[in-house]
Order: sequence, then C-alpha cells, then structure tokens
Amino acid sequence: MFVELLDKLRCPHLHDDNPLVTTTAVTHARYVIEGTLGCSICLAEFRVHQGALEMAGGFPVPTLVPETFSEENTIRRAAQLGLDERGGLYLVDGVGQYFIKSFLEMSPDSQFIALSVTGRIDDAVMSIRGRPDVLPLAKGSLRGAAFDFEVSAELMRSAVQALAPGGRLVTDAGLKVPDGIELLARDRDQWVGERIATPVLNELRRATPG
Ligand SMILES: [Zn+2]
Repeated sequence: MFVELLDKLRCPHLHDDNPLVTTTAVTHARYVIEGTLGCSICLAEFRVHQGALEMAGGFPVPTLVPETFSEENTIRRAAQLGLDERGGLYLVDGVGQYFIKSFLEMSPDSQFIALSVTGRIDDAVMSIRGRPDVLPLAKGSLRGAAFDFEVSAELMRSAVQALAPGGRLVTDAGLKVPDGIELLARDRDQWVGERIATPVLNELRRATPG
C-alpha cells in the first residue's frame, strides 16, 4: 500500500469520518509491506500483510480467456472508466487488476486500487484482499470504479460515496443503477454511470427507510 494514499483512507465503520492511521509499519520504497491500520474512534484494526490490505469478505477467482485481454477490450475498459491525461485515483476489481499496466500506459498520472485480489499487485497503489461492504476510502476520492464481481447494495452505496462528482461507475448490466448515479451507457454485459454532483445525497438517504 502506497504511503501517500493514507490521507485518502477512512475507517469503513459506521461513525463520523475518521482517517485510518498506521500503528505499526514496515515500509519499502514508500509502500507499507507489513503493518496495521487503525481507527482512533472504534479501535478497529486492519492488517497489511505482504503489501496487501486484508479486509472481510470472500470473492470469486475469475476465469480468464485470451479474448479478455484483447486490445479492443482494454480500450473499452479504459473508456468506461473515463481514463484521461488528468490522472486520478481509480478502483478496479478482480479482472480489472490485469489491466492496470495497460491503463498506466494510457494514463500515466492515474493511480489504481485493486479490490478483491489474492495478493499485492505491483502496479496498484493499494491492493485489497477481501471484499468489504464498505470501501475504506474518503468521500469523493475516486474518479472511477469498475466492478467485475457481485456488488452488494452496501458496497454499491459505498462506491457511489467514494466517487467524486462526474466519477464513473461500471458494473454488471443486471445490477440496479443506484441513487446518485446517472446512467451513461448500457449494453448486454455492463452499464456505465456517472456520479451526480448532489451535496444533499447523504441526508436524503438517511431520510429514506431501508
Ligand atoms: Zn472506526
């Protein structure tokens, strides 16, 4: 986990926004390799082991075929995320992890968090082993998030909150487009949406039961 990403990390638990801080750490070349991230409010601790942040939740291991890595598919994925010369922080999933190298060639100033991976991904600024319902990220910190695996309603809500206005969300076509997201495109497999800039989103959500 890249040390400079720390100020974008937040405790995923339900309380006021609180940064996660490293309590112990072994770092190498500005990456936390071994250590613990802790929350000063709820005292939750998350372990960083062999360079990957360990969180709750299981995930499938993707079945990959050669066509997955076609140039066409790579360009399609980059376009869905809206990668450009401005750079920014993006979240990719278990299949998307394999595209980070190509994405960095197209958008060298971008950074990528790999979710639900089995171990540290060299080209990612953070690798998360597990599939938490809540992403440990500050509100508005992501320019895009693309999911390949099942997304719980909570994880979807958390991803929407982590997106900056105009940020892209890409998921399986079968999933409902959540509040706060405007649909941009949909095909047989996936939809792409964009985060609407609406500062009252949290209040609206709290007012709606369920
Ligand atoms: Zn906490």
